[in-house]
Amino acid sequence: MFGGRYYIETYGCQMNEHDSQKMSALLEELGMTEAASADQADVVVINTCSVREKPEHKVYSALGTLKAAKTRNPAMVTVVAGCVAQQERDKLLKRVSHLDIVLGTHAIGELPALVGRVRETGERISCTDFRGEVSSLHMHAPIGGEARICSYVTIMQGCSNFCSYCVVPFTRGPEMSRPERDVIDEVRGIVAQGGKEVTLLGQNVNAYGKDLEQGPSFSHLLRQLDRIEGLRRVRFTTSHPKDFDEGLASAMADMASVCEHIHLPLQSGADNVLRAMKRSYDYAAYREKVRLLRQKVPGVAITADMIVGFPGESEADFQQTLAALEEIRFDQIFSFKFSPRPGTDASRLPDQVPEDVKIARLARVHQIQEAITSGYHLAAEGTTAEVLVEEIKQQTGQARGRTRTNKVVNLGASEGILPGDLVRVEIVRGLKHSLLGKKAD
Ligand code: SF4
Repeated sequence: MFGGRYYIETYGCQMNEHDSQKMSALLEELGMTEAASADQADVVVINTCSVREKPEHKVYSALGTLKAAKTRNPAMVTVVAGCVAQQERDKLLKRVSHLDIVLGTHAIGELPALVGRVRETGERISCTDFRGEVSSLHMHAPIGGEARICSYVTIMQGCSNFCSYCVVPFTRGPEMSRPERDVIDEVRGIVAQGGKEVTLLGQNVNAYGKDLEQGPSFSHLLRQLDRIEGLRRVRFTTSHPKDFDEGLASAMADMASVCEHIHLPLQSGADNVLRAMKRSYDYAAYREKVRLLRQKVPGVAITADMIVGFPGESEADFQQTLAALEEIRFDQIFSFKFSPRPGTDASRLPDQVPEDVKIARLARVHQIQEAITSGYHLAAEGTTAEVLVEEIKQQTGQARGRTRTNKVVNLGASEGILPGDLVRVEIVRGLKHSLLGKKAD
């Protein structure tokens, strides 16, 4: 037992958020409690992301700020975890003199032992090898005594796709699925504590089980989870279009708990750009999957990631992306300017698109998508939807929750409504980013 306090700063995706929850649980098992800021902590972890350039820059600035705290308290143990740690490895220790531990993405489970070693010996340690087995993949989410209404559950880690712009296969290693029994047990535990919704996490959930001997398919896993009594909603992210198939569309259609929402990154509407991205599908194939999905799951919400300014993207290519937005009419997209990530094929491609062109293209994408999203929200006015209430806002007393299609709904009056309730709601107003509703009669 260490005692003392810890502080974790997290950048990046839901996977990182979830890893931070696991690290927090490991440190609490040692008797540590959470500090309000890095200044007040004995162990500080910066959990990093290098998928895009911006979070990576933020990490270096956070590390700079940490220097003063470490100078004031030399016994403080400082840790960098996540994708930047995995990418930079020993170089980080050389570059940042006030850093004690570089914790690779496969080494999260070793955090307590490494902190102990640093305290005992004063060593500075880099632990970044990829292993055949990742202990943190088997860790259950820390639930604590209190019910968490919506929880993340990791079902796999890593990615074997090597899209030409992406660092994930380098920073998280190859796809590794968690045994089905493990996932089911964790979800049962969450439901037993009062949890209502789980989001299954993986870089490519459709490939779930492919790396396991006689591995179950992702649809099989969904069917097993659907049998858990009390589990009201199952979500999952992220799906790769090349692995999305009729089996998953049918599973979404058949199972009461599986929500009518899918995040299916398209990235570009131009086939030559998709080829250069090594995405393994063309636009026509993507569009066909969307058609099938909408046929099987009426009213399904589809969201996507889009990248503008990929090397070699011409104005004509970009126009195809805009046309794809208009044709598919996503409920929402997450759009980014291409930024070359170290070590990836795309960082070495000629024909990089000038920054001002990328900025202008991103603005056009935003403009078109905002109009589409607003259109969906306005069309929802007067309809009813089931909302899972996640919180009651202290200041306003408003309830906030989400529909099965993952749209945020604020309820004007929360009287009698509690977090965890499934409420039938009439949508009274469609706003830019959310919906306003009232409890239906
Ligand atoms: S599917 Fe492609 S973009 Fe997604 S994590 Fe894997 S390599 Fe990266």
